Order: sequence, then structure tokens, then C-alpha cells
Amino acid sequence: MSQFTLTIDGKSVAGERTFGVINPATGKVFAQAPDCTRAQLDLAMEAAQRAFRAWSRDEAKRRQVLRDCAEAVKKNLTDLARVLTQEQGKPLARATEELFGAAVWFDFTAGLQIPVEVVFDDENTRVEVRRRPYGVVGAITPWNYPVLLAVWKIAPALLAGNTLVLKPSPFTPLSSLRLGEILRDVVPAGVLNVVSGGNELGQWVSEHPAVRKISFTGSVATGKKIAAAAAPDLKRVTLELGGNDPAIVLKDVDPKQVAQKLFWGAFMNSGQVCSAIKRLYVEEEVYQPILNELAEIAKTVKVGDGLDPASQLGPINNKPQFERVTELVEEAKRQGARIVTGGHRLGSEGYFFEPTLLTDVAEDVRIVAEEQFGPALPILPFRSVDDAIERANATHFGLSGSVWTNDVKRGAEIASRLECGTGWVNQHLAIRPDAPFGGAKWSGIGVENGPWGLLGFTELQVINVAKK
Ligand code: NAD
Repeated sequence: MSQFTLTIDGKSVAGERTFGVINPATGKVFAQAPDCTRAQLDLAMEAAQRAFRAWSRDEAKRRQVLRDCAEAVKKNLTDLARVLTQEQGKPLARATEELFGAAVWFDFTAGLQIPVEVVFDDENTRVEVRRRPYGVVGAITPWNYPVLLAVWKIAPALLAGNTLVLKPSPFTPLSSLRLGEILRDVVPAGVLNVVSGGNELGQWVSEHPAVRKISFTGSVATGKKIAAAAAPDLKRVTLELGGNDPAIVLKDVDPKQVAQKLFWGAFMNSGQVCSAIKRLYVEEEVYQPILNELAEIAKTVKVGDGLDPASQLGPINNKPQFERVTELVEEAKRQGARIVTGGHRLGSEGYFFEPTLLTDVAEDVRIVAEEQFGPALPILPFRSVDDAIERANATHFGLSGSVWTNDVKRGAEIASRLECGTGWVNQHLAIRPDAPFGGAKWSGIGVENGPWGLLGFTELQVINVAKK
């Protein structure tokens, strides 16, 4: 594996120190990432500040640059996908999809308009509401979809006229570093800087005086720390945090027809998706048939090294997360849960865990009440839809949720009663570049994607002109 470098002011910068990055399929370090020092972060921030002036003034150029970014990602898809699979664990086909999604997001965002609204205009006065960029954006990302989630920030922040310093997770820094290297040729120097390091580096980014806006995706606990770090300087924040998504399955569904979609809604990326199904509520009449169908799928899914083309699911990304999922499953067992399939580690190398289905779990058991973020799904029966909605909403989380029924009108009505940012009907994880994505309650503040996500990287300015 070749060297990975920081991108600061359009240049390749080596780390004074490095840290090891583990391949979760083997549990062994396979590459080194630069550990950005505070002085190097200062250089990245100064470069971003310097670049802001010219960048914020040329909207046409910004659109073209985003389109060039899309092309650059597509051109480097094979290399990037391999890096992503090795550090994240996901199967190569899924890594390729993530990168293709990143290119789609760059392209789509390039076409968004930055609105100028005229609220009053007569012979004496013209009042316009415009959108200004903030300046330097600090972007901090997690390890589950490192490239796509970075691009959700980079593309709209840059289109709006901001410059950016990206700090990926220490578990998956390499694909972001590589992205920075690839985009050096197409993004002007200083506009996009990529630095890697530990959690402390994230803290430095969120406290840095150059940063005017923080866009963060990660856990609720870190989101709260970032909000607190931003407060003394009144930095703006967008927080995309954890979820504990319910899916509510009504008795009129055909279990065979919905089972595949339900399974992948929960187990995609080995359950490491913020908006994966994390609690499955099933109406009593179809509870057993749904369980049987899901168990069949869980038993036949091939779990293995993402570089093996036969693998459908990879390992859990990192040791602490692997230990957490194991602990949640063990604790549920101790509290009376029945394991329908899975329940154990797979093999002795790496962080593989069997796709696990649990029943007979009470609502207050941690695997139901907390975000498991791994391949273990509790399945809970319900008798009345009102009861299911109440249980679905009885949480601090509010990212998304879904309703499954043959009556789509009723499904949409039930989905609208879920206290969350996105309510799906007969699907889950149907995330689109043109619709806002974000969480209610503890799942976040603000949204990403579509025109709403773009506006999150701007602030309002009124231009009030006395014509005479
Ligand atoms: P995490 O909060 O541990 O880390 C996320 C990022 O924050 C990393 O880059 C980390 O280095 C950095 N960080 C850690 N401490 C920091 C601090 N004090 N100040 C600044 N930065 C700090 O989250 P994770 O474990 O990497 O990701 C998993 C979580 O992310 C899950 O809860 C998942 O639901 C959530 N997530 C949410 C979305 C969404 O769009 N809502 C998408 C993906 C993941």
C-alpha cells in the first residue's frame, strides 16, 4: 500500500508521526496514516482562510469544480474502493457503490441553485434576501460511510462558497486522505484540506478559531461535545447523529415479499448505518412468518472478507464496536432474549459477527433501547398500531423509521406519526440527494442534502436598497 499524506493548501504533507490503520477482516494494521499535529492543522486552517476570498466570489467556477470532482472520483473508483474495503470492511461491490454515490452527490449538488429572493421591489426600494457562505467549515466524519458522508459535506459547503478542512475517523482515514490526493488536481489550493488523526484532532477542529461552521456526523455523545465546543465562539453547527430506527410491519404484508427488504434495511453494511432498521416491530398475525423468512436469509448470507467477491457482509469495523455488539447480545441473552440465528463471533481473526436475530426482548433491554450499530436485530411483536407507534417513539432518537403495508395511503399516515426526520413506506434506507436528511430529537440538528442541506452552509443577508 502506497503512502498516504495530508492535503494542506493543495500540497501533499507527510505526518511527523503516523498511526496504524487496522483491516477489520484481519484485525491487523495494514497501513499508516499521518497523525496531523496542531501546527499542521493551523496551516490547513490558514490555507482555507486564504483561499476563501477568491473561491467565494466565483460561483460558475465552483459548479465546474464540483463536476470535475465527480469525474475524478469515477476515474479513481477502483483504487479508492480497494482502500475503502480494506479499512472499513464492506464488500468491494458496496465500496464501489459508496464511491459511485459520492460522484452522484458531487454532480447533483453542482446543479443546485443558491437562491436570491426578492421580498420587496417598487420604485423606491428593493429588498433582497441573499445567501452568504460562512468561511471555513470544519467537517468531521464517522467510519461507516467515510467517503460518501464526507462528500455530503464537501459538495454543498464548497458550492455555497465556503472552504473546508475535513477530519475523518481514525478508524477509516485512508479513503478520505486518498480522496484529498485525487481532488488536489481539480480543487484550487486551500479550498479542500484533509487532515487525519485521533479524536483529539476532531476536538482541535471544533475549537479552532478559524472555523465558522462545524458539520459533524457521528455519535450523539460526540455531537453534544461538539455543540459545547462550538458555543463559546458561537460557531454554527449541523449535527447528524445516531439513530435507533423502528420499522413497523402490519399484518396485511406478504412476508415473503418484504423479508429481503427488511433484512437488508437492518443488515446493510453489517448494521453499521445511522438509519438502519434497529428495532423491528411486527404485528402479531405475521410475526412468526416474518421471523421464519428473516431467519432463512440470515442463515444463508455469506459473511467474509470484503475483498472476497462472494462476501455479502463484511466484518464490524473496529474492535470497540465489535465488543459493544457482542456485549449487547450477551446482555440481552442474560435478560431472557432468545437467539433465533447467529449470536456469536465468526472465525478467530478480525471482527466478524454472525447476522443475529433476537426475540423475547423487553423494551428496556439495551439492544432495544440503545443504538446497537451492528449485525444484531431485535424483533418485537405488537397487537395494536397505536401501541407500536408509541413504543417506536419512546426514545431520545428520531432519525428515521418505516411502515410496511399493502395499504400505502395508511402507511404514509402512520409514518407521519413517527417522531423522526424521514418516514419511509415499504422501504428503508432510501436516501436521496434531492431530499433533506436529518434527525429529530437527539438524532441531530439541521439537515444534509438537497437545497435544504446546501442552505445549511450559508447564512442570510438582506440587501436593502433605497433607489432614490
Ligand atoms: P464518533 O462520534 O465516535 O466519531 C465521529 C467522528 O468524531 C470521528 O471522526 C472522531 O474522531 C470524531 N471525534 C471524536 N471525539 C471528538 C471530539 N470530542 N470532538 C470532535 N470530534 C471528535 O462516531 P463513530 O463511532 O465514528 O460513528 C458512529 C455513529 O455515527 C453512530 O452513532 C451512527 O449512528 C452515527 N452516524 C450518523 C449519521 C447521520 O447521518 N445521522 C450517519 C452515519 C453515522
